[in-house]
Amino acid sequence: KNVNDIMGHAFGDALLRQVAQRLQQQVAAPARIARLGGDEFAILLPGATLEDATGLAARLLKTLEQPIALEDQNVDLGAGIGIAGYPEHARDVQSLLSRVEVAMYAAKNGGSGAVVYDPDIDKASQQSLSLLSELRHAAEQNEFRLFVQPKVDLASGVVSGMEALVRWVHPERGMVFPDNFIPFAEKTGFIRVITQWVMEKAAATASELARQGLRMRVSVNLSTRDLMDQELPQKFAAVLARHQLTPAAFCLEITESAIMDDPVRAQHTLESLHAMGVALSIDDFGTGYSSLAYLKRLPVQELKIDKSFVLKMERDAGDAKIVRSTIDLGHNLGLKVVAEGIESQAAWDMLAAMGCDQGQGYFMSKPMPAEDFAGWLAR
Ligand code: C2E
Ligand code: CA
Ligand code: CA
Ligand code: CA
Repeated sequence: KNVNDIMGHAFGDALLRQVAQRLQQQVAAPARIARLGGDEFAILLPGATLEDATGLAARLLKTLEQPIALEDQNVDLGAGIGIAGYPEHARDVQSLLSRVEVAMYAAKNGGSGAVVYDPDIDKASQQSLSLLSELRHAAEQNEFRLFVQPKVDLASGVVSGMEALVRWVHPERGMVFPDNFIPFAEKTGFIRVITQWVMEKAAATASELARQGLRMRVSVNLSTRDLMDQELPQKFAAVLARHQLTPAAFCLEITESAIMDDPVRAQHTLESLHAMGVALSIDDFGTGYSSLAYLKRLPVQELKIDKSFVLKMERDAGDAKIVRSTIDLGHNLGLKVVAEGIESQAAWDMLAAMGCDQGQGYFMSKPMPAEDFAGWLAR
């Protein structure tokens, strides 16, 4: 949780007191420590060099890494530390503090760590700060929309599920597609808010369809940051419970590159999710660099061939071969194979002939607002 969310509660105050104590243990006179407000602290180091400050930052990060015991919980903290020097970065207190803030946000973008101010990050961070605040605003103002795209059984033509795809309906810019904000959300950690929202909406959609007698498995995309979130399985279980769904109603899609970012942790999270009974899928297969040995050990049931190959396979014999061998590879590993990017009857026929199990694509339907899905099925 963001510490700000629990501020003002007894829990938040106790947590901050412990954080302050840890900071104080590392900061000796003439250095001074002050709380700036919220969960932010400032440390003034008279006479110190930037190297001294960086060294202290490393020690602070280390002491903050130790979980904090509160009541019956262990709390893990991350911290972003920004560093700026007088007189090299600014000559008055106000500018010095604003440069520290810029460096701190740059540090937080990396998740946790320390960053020394640099004029180059100033400009980039001005832009990303405003995008981040726009995303926060979007979440508060309900500007996200859930779209879904049907997933079809290629042999029978039966619709067997749907993939949840988020859209951002911006009051001025109109419809913003995920490629324009998901990578940024991923970098800043805001993706966790989006993932939570998408899981909630996807579950609401699936349970509404189930009420109408339509049992559809809904696929939700997870990102690297989600895989690093140790609470993800609990959060997911809570969503299922709220909507009275079984884990089998969900499939979670993880890109090959997200898995390869930190294969050990990814495997750990995937195993917890698998143990819950949720189906797992490897997305964008063929675009990353996963080793086949690794793939074999992951508890996944589905492999999705990236649309870049499917879109070109009718014209390019090389892409057709990649598609065919990916289908065979998936089947040999006991996985269901899904092709995305089916834009024509010819592509459908070709994939069906290759034995591909399921498909998605504009030929069947573009992603549509989730509330239109039942109507589309009945068309
Ligand atoms: P993805 O997971 O590979 O999703 C498939 C993308 O291919 C979707 O783009 C979909 O609209 C598009 N597509 C489907 N059929 C066709 C077709 O026949 N032709 C072509 N040219 N494209 C097709 P979209 O919705 O713009 O999403 C882009 C990416 O953004 C997704 O790729 C996914 O990586 C990410 N994304 C979308 N929603 C979420 C989300 O809720 N969470 C996370 N973490 N990522 C998301
Ligand atoms: Ca904060
Ligand atoms: Ca996907
Ligand atoms: Ca994909």
